Amino acid sequence: MKSNNEKVILSGMRPTGKLHIGHYVGALENWVALQKDYKNYHLIADYHTLTTNLDTTMVFEDSIEMAIDWIASGIDPEKSPIFRQSKIKEHTELFLIFSMLITKARLEKNPTLKEQIKAMNLQTITYGHLGYPVLQAADILLYKGDLVPVGEDQVPHVEITRQIAGVFNEKYCLPDGHSIFPIPEPKITQFARLPGLDGKAKMSKSLDNTILLSDDEEKIKTKMKKAFTDPNKLRKGDKGNPDICLVYTYHKKFNGNEINEIREGCKSGSLGCFDCKMNISSKISGYFAAIREKRAELEQKKKEVLEILEDGENKARSVAVQTMTEVREAMKLG
Ligand code: SF4
Repeated sequence: MKSNNEKVILSGMRPTGKLHIGHYVGALENWVALQKDYKNYHLIADYHTLTTNLDTTMVFEDSIEMAIDWIASGIDPEKSPIFRQSKIKEHTELFLIFSMLITKARLEKNPTLKEQIKAMNLQTITYGHLGYPVLQAADILLYKGDLVPVGEDQVPHVEITRQIAGVFNEKYCLPDGHSIFPIPEPKITQFARLPGLDGKAKMSKSLDNTILLSDDEEKIKTKMKKAFTDPNKLRKGDKGNPDICLVYTYHKKFNGNEINEIREGCKSGSLGCFDCKMNISSKISGYFAAIREKRAELEQKKKEVLEILEDGENKARSVAVQTMTEVREAMKLG
């Protein structure tokens, strides 16, 4: 039985460039906490971007920008290697083998894929897009991931990885009879989802409703001026309903000390939306000040950031090569 600090967790994101505060609240904050208790690997999932976007012009630059935000947020690359998926060829090799272990019908049942097709209004999808959960299984199992941090809605994804690991272990084992892959467990996490400035449920660059981790106080204030509030509260003096106001959601996350005051001020009308927005902008700016400072430092040292990635890639590669040696041995591929 493994202790927690022997258990492996692989977490990753597609490289989307500079990250926003929704990424921090929804994932990074949790990753930083997990690195105290578990052995973490952090994947820059650049091959996964191809499932929905074939334009690779910005992938390299976006990967560096994302790594800067990860490190500035507190990921320690010495302890938790950060690496680009495309630099470790074993991901694609294991993906190829795993793609023989699952049926097309099973992948078509993937509820997340169905949602994506609907949201993106896709008339057709590629073979690679259908198979992206198989690439995810390879990403996780190459490092023998024991736990996969997911929200409740993503458990079906982990099921595909579990199924593939189970089928492989049943068909192939090492000469001493040992299985190669753990059957990873979902680690259910309450990922907070931060709504976008326009009030949409998700903060997303494609919706242009984000506050970036790199945004300074002035920029946050400018963006916040357009934020969605109670549409019936038009001026100071009007009574408002904080429960339907996006800005109040941000106060709950970033300004807990003043939350009662804000609520009462909004409801009575004594607080105007402009002042309320300027207040939360300062609080958000303060909350992320240390990250922004560290990010600005790293921005000047991109060569060093690249070296950090290369170091993470060397560490990840040595694990990946070992796993593939075992896979070939178990499959008697020589
Ligand atoms: S006063 Fe604040 S909480 Fe109330 S509607 Fe305006 S922005 Fe929202």
